[in-house]
Amino acid sequence: MTDAVEPFRTHFIRQIIDADLACGKHDRIVTRFPPEPNGYLHIGHAKSIVLNFGLAESYDGQCNLRFDDTNPHKEDVEFVDAIQSDVRWLGFDWGDRCFFASDYFEQLYQFAIELIEKGLAYVCDLSAEETRDYRGTLTEPGRNSPWRERSVAENLALFTQMRAGEFPDGRRTLRARIDMAAPNINLRDPVLYRIKHGVIHHQTGSAWCLYPTYDYTHPLSDALEGVTHSLCTLEFEDHRPLYDWCIANVSLPCQPRQIEFSRLNLEYTVTSKRRLTELVADGLVSGWDDPRMPTLAGLRRRGYTPVAIRDFCARIGVTKSENLVEMALLESAIRDDLDATAPRRMAVLRPLKVILTNYPKDREESLEVSNHPKDAALGTRPLIFGAELYIDRNDFAENPPKDFKRLIPGGEVRLRNAYVMRCDEVIKDASGEVIALRASVDLETLGKNPEGRKVKGVIHWVSAAHAIAAEVRLYDRLFRVPTPGAGGVDYRTDINPDSLRVLHDAMLEPALQGVSPGERFQFEREGYFVADPDTTSAHPVFNLTVGLRDTWGKNQA
Ligand code: ATP
Ligand code: MG
Repeated sequence: MTDAVEPFRTHFIRQIIDADLACGKHDRIVTRFPPEPNGYLHIGHAKSIVLNFGLAESYDGQCNLRFDDTNPHKEDVEFVDAIQSDVRWLGFDWGDRCFFASDYFEQLYQFAIELIEKGLAYVCDLSAEETRDYRGTLTEPGRNSPWRERSVAENLALFTQMRAGEFPDGRRTLRARIDMAAPNINLRDPVLYRIKHGVIHHQTGSAWCLYPTYDYTHPLSDALEGVTHSLCTLEFEDHRPLYDWCIANVSLPCQPRQIEFSRLNLEYTVTSKRRLTELVADGLVSGWDDPRMPTLAGLRRRGYTPVAIRDFCARIGVTKSENLVEMALLESAIRDDLDATAPRRMAVLRPLKVILTNYPKDREESLEVSNHPKDAALGTRPLIFGAELYIDRNDFAENPPKDFKRLIPGGEVRLRNAYVMRCDEVIKDASGEVIALRASVDLETLGKNPEGRKVKGVIHWVSAAHAIAAEVRLYDRLFRVPTPGAGGVDYRTDINPDSLRVLHDAMLEPALQGVSPGERFQFEREGYFVADPDTTSAHPVFNLTVGLRDTWGKNQA
């Protein structure tokens, strides 16, 4: 899939790689995608996955999957498994190169000893609060820790005792010995190791009570894997000097280069893992795979395809400038894919019964209709016509607004793929609500335009005797504003209260019998829908993926 994955157009990272290959700095590039297993992957991660795996594919290099698992409190194998299946679902393969930073814990420990021996790291007894205090501020330099001048021998002895579990949490840390007056705060003797007792790490169990920090682990893991280009988001720009310091000061054969790009920010959604975790934990959505979530699991359940997500990532490109991407861009990527690939079906979401008075009661006609207007390869299906139909309530108006092109009392419409029908009588219940229509069809009009008569509109329908009842979940954007939480308000107050409406008695055409979860269709005139995992043979459940065109804003107001 090489070129379909990476955009054809070049970007600054490609230019750096091109130059590195041209001057012989590398023969082959190695990238990695480094998630922390503390949540599910979201659309922002997709940008990073497509970039890292896509570059490796298009330069015939390799991309590793590496779990950055240095923070065992929040991590879980549930997330490890979900991340792997989501990366695979997007269409990428790490071969036999799924690594864990925790695979390197012993090696990282040895590197720490090397730093101590070189006088570049020391055991510090300051508490977390004191360490912060000594660090200084953006405008003031920090102060040296009183423990900074410990001898190498003492540092080695204490570090060994730290590993052996002889000190409680927070009692001591190992710190790099760089420069407490450095303008970049990240270089003011950053902590490399902290003590954490009593955590069961999902990979290493209780083998360690000493955990390396992210800033120390990441560069060294990259180097151990022979990563050539370590791509990360802009918030790590200030950490780059520390990244380079770590690599420069331990014995390593490889010198990865860190390159930062801007993260994906998407309108009408949040992609902070903390917020996504909160939405799930507080029950504001049904789970990580709620179809309104920007997680890959949620997008998949919503009906998004890997092709559409990769296409979206190609369309947004890779730059260093922060921006907010329009939701409409993501929606148009899925619409384009499904327009080309989704078989057409008829589904009446808000059924209104129509009794045909001039069509024989027990007659059934099987009409052969095409599954796709532009792609004959998708074939045809039988569609049954009968004396009682369902049409959508929204396609009938007793007192039509101006420009209403659908059915009105005494008016005519074409029934899609079938006859022209006239509404003869409106049947109401005691409260005056319309409960059915009596109508007649012109039997001369099957597949032909009626001569000399003007038919205003085309509507969809299903045969009442053959229809399959279904539940349809109409999803909309989870937030009602482009930047939830902007201006200091709690982002949860920006949740769209109408982001889910459930229709319990939709009626589907019989060809949808036996549909399996994950199958996608265009319901004609309604939008693109996917069968939800809640679907059973007796009870199909469909989710709205996206409407046929962008109507956001028009439905609001
Ligand atoms: P946190 O570190 O707060 O848990 P994170 O979103 O950075 O959250 P990671 O698991 O560390 O999550 O991310 C893995 C990779 O995906 C990192 O390289 C990160 O830079 C990248 N990434 C995360 N969010 C985005 C985003 N919105 N756009 C592009 N890349 C992203
Ligand atoms: Mg991160």
